[in-house]
Amino acid sequence: MATHSSQSQCTFKQAIKEKACELGFDACGMARAGRVSAEAQRRYSDWIARQHHDCMTYAERYCDVRDDVTLLLPDAKTVISVALNYYPEAKQRPDVPQIAYYAYGNDYHEVLRAKLLQLAQFIEQTTGAATRVCVDTAPIREKYWAQQAGIGFVGRNNLLILPGRGSFFFLGEVVTTLELEPDAPLEMSCGACHRCVDACPGGALSLEGDAADASRCLSCQLIERRGELPEWVAGAKGNRLYGCDECQLCCPHNAQAQPTGEPLFAPREEILNLTASDIATMTQPEFSRIFAHSAIKRAKLDGLKRNLGK
Ligand code: SF4
Ligand code: SF4
Repeated sequence: MATHSSQSQCTFKQAIKEKACELGFDACGMARAGRVSAEAQRRYSDWIARQHHDCMTYAERYCDVRDDVTLLLPDAKTVISVALNYYPEAKQRPDVPQIAYYAYGNDYHEVLRAKLLQLAQFIEQTTGAATRVCVDTAPIREKYWAQQAGIGFVGRNNLLILPGRGSFFFLGEVVTTLELEPDAPLEMSCGACHRCVDACPGGALSLEGDAADASRCLSCQLIERRGELPEWVAGAKGNRLYGCDECQLCCPHNAQAQPTGEPLFAPREEILNLTASDIATMTQPEFSRIFAHSAIKRAKLDGLKRNLGK
């Protein structure tokens, strides 16, 4: 465990935020590591109990770690939460099979991990503290910690919203044994707005702001489900091929979304211009080449062809 005076904590905190900015992160905040609130714990276990995680069975595992971030790193004192904008400057034409914006560029796991490892290395070398980097795959309640760290609030669309900047952001964390003064949690809510609840094609969202019912979410079905799609999907998916951005596009917080400054998220022409016929006739070697550094490889070629189905 690294212990430092409150003055050096303040200096480290500033230096870490500056380093995060230098690495291209759009927001960075600190929260005291520990258990999530009883309310957050209850909401998550209710979501699992209702089977609203659907085919994402991994969500059932490591619940003890999800509830207590100190189980990820012994003696953890701080969760450093960061956000990286992925809003694309160029978009697909509406007549081609639609891909969620987050998958236009390179796989965020690779891009965020590389940046987070640099941030973690900076912390270790500057302070001697231990670190653990998390990007989506670790069992950590990333939206909860981002809200605790003051960088946004969780909307009815179940996404972290950065006030004035929207929700087209990837999240990542560095958990560390370094003790830092926490930022103030962001106390904001959607208020009376329910545009995303109304706009959701599958009826996956609720006015109560419960976690989305993944069995009714197109993003989950088109990306996570293996084998046949449920019958309702054919009538709801329109020309979506991979994911769904409806609950973000309708959100007033995204009205002023600014394009990402991260070159690795720049839309790849070859992906933006894919037609239904390109996908229907795509071979495995073509798929492997086009999606080598893309999150879309997760769906596999069979998955894309299935999603194209009438
Ligand atoms: S991603 Fe689409 S289907 Fe899923 S909750 Fe949002 S609007 Fe609904
Ligand atoms: S559309 Fe409205 S209710 Fe939904 S997340 Fe945005 S502000 Fe909240």
